[in-house]
Amino acid sequence: MTRIAYLDGEFLPLGECRVSALDRGFVFGDGIYEVSAVLDGGLVDNDSHLARLVRSVGEISLALPVTLERLIEIQKELITRNGLVNGVVYMQVTRGPAEREFGFPAAPKPTLFMFTQTKEIVASPNAATGIRVKSVPDLRWARCDIKSVSLLAQVLAKQAAAEAGCYEAWMVRDGFVTEGGSSSAFIVTADGTVVTRPNSNAILPGCTRKALLALAAEGAIRVEERLFTLDEAFAASEAFMTSASTFVYPIVELDGRTIGTGKPGPIATRLRQIYVDFARADAKLAENRP
Ligand code: PLP
Repeated sequence: MTRIAYLDGEFLPLGECRVSALDRGFVFGDGIYEVSAVLDGGLVDNDSHLARLVRSVGEISLALPVTLERLIEIQKELITRNGLVNGVVYMQVTRGPAEREFGFPAAPKPTLFMFTQTKEIVASPNAATGIRVKSVPDLRWARCDIKSVSLLAQVLAKQAAAEAGCYEAWMVRDGFVTEGGSSSAFIVTADGTVVTRPNSNAILPGCTRKALLALAAEGAIRVEERLFTLDEAFAASEAFMTSASTFVYPIVELDGRTIGTGKPGPIATRLRQIYVDFARADAKLAENRP
């Protein structure tokens, strides 16, 4: 089946989408992206992702070329046209084509590009077995709270992880774990407390992280938002990561060292189940379905 994407007002086969070689997303990485999960044909926690998109574009003085209402219509039309059941909708807005000058063009024409990917997020083998992680230095800039398409540091981090047989990289700055290459990072201490770094300019405020922390509080699971080191992670009883396209994956190995029992821990397993239940319920709501 030909995948249908959306580009600047048109629904097209993905392979036929064309943008200018002078697009500032291509030339400067001058753009923002967002990813919402789709489960059972419905969008998951989409308001949270759209709110972060609005914040990110605002932080780089870029205007969305369509209203949020229209953006949601496009998301839903992509789900329908692609018969998407489980996967993600990707959205990207760049400052568009312009002569190559660093400063903003006087009258930018932002490029809006959206497409879908199929992925079995719930029935994932990684969730059942847990994943391996490799630590790497965090080479990123000082505004990691902005979901920029300039992802070179994460590309290099995740490639290094993949070459070491790992699924994810944990980035480390000033001795503390910031986050995963494309996920939020968590450990669980011996007394069952979930520890994750507080939001700041050093990390992307994860939508899954935010929802999960609220669900953990409802489930009477203790959470501490504070910095943690790799040594604390090595000694942790559990570790896990969250993102829209994985929900919650338990981590069973870090830098070749076994975490906890080497199997997905009870708290990560429970939090994954709680999040899956939340996601299924959210995806069922009429407003989140085409
Ligand atoms: N941190 C980084 C650097 C990311 O790229 C992502 C997602 O792509 C996340 C965290 C997780 O965010 P979310 O849960 O909103 O997908």
